[in-house]
Amino acid sequence: MNNAIINNMEITTVNESKINSVDFESIAFGREFTDHMFSCDFKDGKWQTPKITPYQPLTLDPSARVFHYGQAVFEGMKAFKDDMDDVWLFRPEDNFNRINISAKRLAIPEFPKEYFLNGLSALIDLERDWIKKGEGNALYIRPFVIATEPAISASPANEFKFMIICSPVKSYYKGKVSVVFAQDYSRSANGGVGFAKAAGNYAAQFYPTSLVQKEGYQQIIWTDANTHEYLEEAGTMNIFFRVNDTLLTAPTSDRILDGITRKSIIQLAKDNNVAVEVRPVSVKEIKEAAKNGSLKEIFGSGTAAAVSPISDFKHGEETFKLEEQEDSYATFFKKKLTDIQYNRTEDKHAWRV
Ligand code: PMP
Repeated sequence: MNNAIINNMEITTVNESKINSVDFESIAFGREFTDHMFSCDFKDGKWQTPKITPYQPLTLDPSARVFHYGQAVFEGMKAFKDDMDDVWLFRPEDNFNRINISAKRLAIPEFPKEYFLNGLSALIDLERDWIKKGEGNALYIRPFVIATEPAISASPANEFKFMIICSPVKSYYKGKVSVVFAQDYSRSANGGVGFAKAAGNYAAQFYPTSLVQKEGYQQIIWTDANTHEYLEEAGTMNIFFRVNDTLLTAPTSDRILDGITRKSIIQLAKDNNVAVEVRPVSVKEIKEAAKNGSLKEIFGSGTAAAVSPISDFKHGEETFKLEEQEDSYATFFKKKLTDIQYNRTEDKHAWRV
């Protein structure tokens, strides 16, 4: 192993990469991890010296509060490689800001920006070879924070660990996605943690999602918890509806994650003279639009899949199928977005870093 101190970061690298043991052709999402990881402990009221070390298991006390109270938040972002072998991040400061917004809601101390950005760039620099060129290939980057302090009293921890791990990926979903509009379960509540990437938000979806999966659907489109009449977002994606030539998407709120892909698509729609309405979208209007033929498309947006077309949906006993569109907005926006991400086009909003 080689040791160095760079930018006040302790860096220990592996002697030999395990990259040759990885079959990049048949890689499953989030199963393989790169050679190194970034970590930084919060102790004695401050974030300590950040470290990059070989990727390895953690040792935690069984009483670490994350295990009992779920005091944990995370992020998801990607690095892309262009045809010249340059590596690009997409709006990384937005992920940085969002992890601290999430952290605040979960009583986790704010992580310093320079630690995040320096750590991220040093880590990605070490893992460049893990990023393959070509559409769909990327390095999925998972920053997260967990409460490590050993104590099973239900109060915020005083010790945390911030980490970044990286996983080479191909595109997330294969083909189209069938969804169910939620009627019983809810993902988030007013005044709750729906807007945060809190670990527990995801755990709480697994059971209801497993029920729809038994019926052959892949995901749930969550509705507002009060009435179940308004469509909010999917488990890991925001959601867009194309009615005639207008895109509709729910406004962000304390129940909905402020997705970076979502706001990028809203901007790209404006840039390309596509009408967008950011407003509550009702189940009733979408069903009516499906019946009268004005509902052309539904698609999800998120870092993992970029844009994910939805082929059909179910609400109660009613099922609806969406016809393939020749001038698909999902395809159009996916191309616009990935052209920026893979450095194939001008980037007038300076999203590429
Ligand atoms: N909603 C939820 C609940 C998510 O977990 C994600 C993934 N981060 C998204 C939406 C999409 O957000 P982004 O475009 O920033 O990946």
